[in-house]
Amino acid sequence: MKSIIERTFDTPFAIQNFIDGKFVDSVNQMNFENINPATGAMLCTVPDSDEKDVQKAILAAQKAFPVWKNKSNEERFRILYVIAQGIMENLDRFALAESLDTGKPLSLAKSVDIPRSAQNFEFFATATMQFASESHDMEGVALNYTLRKPLGVVACISPWNLPLYLFSWKIAPALAAGNCVVAKPSEVTPLTAYLLGEICQKAGLPDGVLNILHGFGHRVGAALIAHPDIKAISFTGGTATGKQIASVAAPQFKKLSLELGGKNPNIIFADADLDQAIQTTIQSSFRNQGQICLCGSRILIESSIYEQFKSRFLEKIGQLKVGNPLDSMTNVGAVVSKNHFHKVLDCIELAKAEGGKILTGGNSLKIEGNCENGYFIAPTVIEGLPQHCRTNMEEIFGPVVTLQSFDNEEEALTIANGTNYGLSATVWTQDIKKAHRMANRLEAGIVWVNTWMLRDLRTPFGGVKQSGVGREGGWEAMRFFTDAKNVVIKY
Ligand code: NAD
Repeated sequence: MKSIIERTFDTPFAIQNFIDGKFVDSVNQMNFENINPATGAMLCTVPDSDEKDVQKAILAAQKAFPVWKNKSNEERFRILYVIAQGIMENLDRFALAESLDTGKPLSLAKSVDIPRSAQNFEFFATATMQFASESHDMEGVALNYTLRKPLGVVACISPWNLPLYLFSWKIAPALAAGNCVVAKPSEVTPLTAYLLGEICQKAGLPDGVLNILHGFGHRVGAALIAHPDIKAISFTGGTATGKQIASVAAPQFKKLSLELGGKNPNIIFADADLDQAIQTTIQSSFRNQGQICLCGSRILIESSIYEQFKSRFLEKIGQLKVGNPLDSMTNVGAVVSKNHFHKVLDCIELAKAEGGKILTGGNSLKIEGNCENGYFIAPTVIEGLPQHCRTNMEEIFGPVVTLQSFDNEEEALTIANGTNYGLSATVWTQDIKKAHRMANRLEAGIVWVNTWMLRDLRTPFGGVKQSGVGREGGWEAMRFFTDAKNVVIKY
C-alpha cells in the first residue's frame, strides 16, 4: 500500500479509521465528503462511523492496555519521542494537509500548528520520565505515599480550529500516562489525524494503543462518550457540546476535562506600548481567521487613546492580505466551512441590527483564481455596540472584533468580566502594579500581560465559568489521565 503521508492531495481520496494498528473502513461502509474551504472542492471522503466502530476500537484498546501500561517509562518515552520526530520529518506534508483541510495559511500551519503538534508529543514523552508523586510523613506515626495509575481506555475529542495541535495535546498526555486512547478529530478537519496513524505505526506504537475514529459528533462522538468502558473524556469544543457531554458522562462518573468557548477581552491601557499592542492585537484578532479560542474578540481601549488606537489599528488591518492559503504572502485564509462562513456573516448582520458601526470589513470576499469558490471573510471591526448585546456576549469565532472604550480599571474589569465565559484575557500596560491588580481580578484561566499566545506547556491551561472545567498542560494533564491511590504504612 502506498504511504499515506506521501499523498499529494491533488485528487480526492478516501480516508479511513485507524483501529488496532490498521487502516479500515467504517463497519457500515458509509462516507461523507470533506471540502477544502479555500476552493470549495472535495478533498476526501470521511468514514461516517458509528457505535459499531466505537465497539471495535474500544475492544482493541482494552486488549492493548496491559501491554502499554506495563511498558517501562523509557519505552513509552522513546515511542512518543519518535512520533514527534516523525511529525517534524514530514512537516511539509502535514502543513499542506492542515492548510487544505482548514483554509488556514500554509505558513501558519508550517510555523505554528505542526511544530506545536510535534512539541506536544515531545513534551509529554519527557513527562513520562519525569512524572513523580507525593509522599506525606505523619511524624513518627505513618508514611503515606501516592501511586498514580493509568485509567484504562480514554476518549479524546477535538475541534476543527487547530486540528492536529489540539488532537495531539490530548492524546500525548493520555498515552504518556499509560492509557490506551480512542480519539475522534473533528469531522470538518480529519486529515492530519488520519496521517498521524501512519506515523504511529512507523514509530512502533503497539496496535490498539491509539485508535482514531472519524465521523460526526452526534453519531460516533456520542457513542464514544456514552460507552461504559470509557473511563475519562478529554474534550475541546463548543460550550453547548461540552454541556451535552457532561450530561451523559456525569451520571456514569467518568473523569471529564472540558475546554470550551471564549469571548476574551483584550484590554489596552493608555500607558501601553502602543506599537507592540497594535502589532499583537492584529494577531490576537485575526490569526487563523479569528478561529482560535484564545483570540481577543472584545478589544477594550482606555478612552483617552481610543481614537488613536482605532485609526492605527485600522491602518494595519488595511495591510493584511486575505487570499489563497497556499500563497506565502497570505495573512488571512478561508474560514473553515460553508456553514461557518454563513454563521459568521449572520453574526455580522446581527451586530448591524444591534446598532454596531462597521469600521472595516463586514463582508465576504471573492478571491480570483482557483479560490473563487472559497469561504473568505474580510477582517471586520465593529464599534458602538452596547456592552450586553449578543455580539459582545456570544462567541463568533471568526475574523470579527468589537471595540469598546473604558475610563478606568474598575470599568475595564466590569466589562471584561461581564460575560459567561472566562478563558483568557490580555492586558496592555507598562505599569507593573496595575498589571498585577488586573491579573488578580480578571475572571479567566490565563491572563497575558503585554503579550498573547505565549505558552509554556508546563503551565495549567483551561477556563473558568462556561469556558470549561479542569486544566490541561504539564502535571495537570498527567494527573487527569491517572487515578491517585494513597498507601499508608504505619511506622
Ligand atoms: P464542536 O463542539 O461542534 O465540536 C467539537 C468536537 O466534538 C468535534 O469533534 C465534534 O464532532 C464533537 N462532538 C460534537 N457533538 C458531540 C457529541 N454530542 N458527543 C461527542 N462529541 C461531539 O466544536 P467545533 O465547532 O469543532 O469547535 C469550535 C469550538 O471549540 C469553539 O467554541 C471554540 O471556542 C472551542 N475551542 C475551545 C478551545 C479551548 O481550549 N478552550 C480550543 C479550541 C476551540
